[in-house]
Amino acid sequence: MSDRRRLRLFTDTPLSQDSAVTLPEAQAHYVVHVMRQKAGDEALVFNGRDGEWLAEIATVSKKGCSLQLKSQVKPQMPEPDVWLAFAPIKKARIDMVIEKATELGASVLWPVFTRHTNAERINLERLRATAIEAAEQCERLTVPEVREATTFENFLNQWPTERRLFVLDETGQGQPIAKVILTHANGEVASPPRAESATPPCGFLVGPEGGFAQSELDVLAQLPFVTRVGLGPRILRAETAALAALVCWQSRVGDWK
Ligand code: SAH
Repeated sequence: MSDRRRLRLFTDTPLSQDSAVTLPEAQAHYVVHVMRQKAGDEALVFNGRDGEWLAEIATVSKKGCSLQLKSQVKPQMPEPDVWLAFAPIKKARIDMVIEKATELGASVLWPVFTRHTNAERINLERLRATAIEAAEQCERLTVPEVREATTFENFLNQWPTERRLFVLDETGQGQPIAKVILTHANGEVASPPRAESATPPCGFLVGPEGGFAQSELDVLAQLPFVTRVGLGPRILRAETAALAALVCWQSRVGDWK
């Protein structure tokens, strides 16, 4: 079977030559009953730390399923360091943001409740499962960290100030996104010293369907680590804006080069 069609599984277990991985019940159920894999079938496994491994299904029983690792097929590689913070939106659309942002290489996904956010609760477990599934499918070697939702104020307090925060500003006051991204990556925006080849750390913040409150925009305008960016003259839905920003970042300074 070609690697493209081979089952690909994320695990927390350390991976090394000849070690074994026992799958938790839900994952074993998926492998055995949904994907109908049998002892002797092959799968790929990754854990975000030890690269990707070819494994053979060693045992399948009522209780579960275990894998025997055979060989490493990809070493762990550095991945883009771009975060996405976003005001939660409705279920199907937030799932879409998680799935697509994972495919587009975001390393941290962070829900932030702003003043005009109208989604009240988010199901963190479901979002994390969505991120894992997307990472398995798109052949990433890591799963993005999906953070606990927080308030706008806590978010800004917790944001690491050495990481530039590009705020997607729908009011037309932001600078053109591509220009800002390139300038930042070339080190023209004040940022701490870094390894020559690495793109300096950054992230995006996308507002809710109701947009940012003026009071929030006023707070953001005072913060030295924030740059407000614009995505052109049309008002995009929040999920479109989030994905457009990641696409722009990947194509200019990320790993699409
Ligand atoms: N209700 C608001 C629109 C909010 S769109 C209004 O009518 O003005 C949701 C979010 O997507 C915004 O908060 C912003 O973060 C982002 N966004 C949408 N269009 C954008 C644009 N043209 N430039 C930058 N960000 C945009």
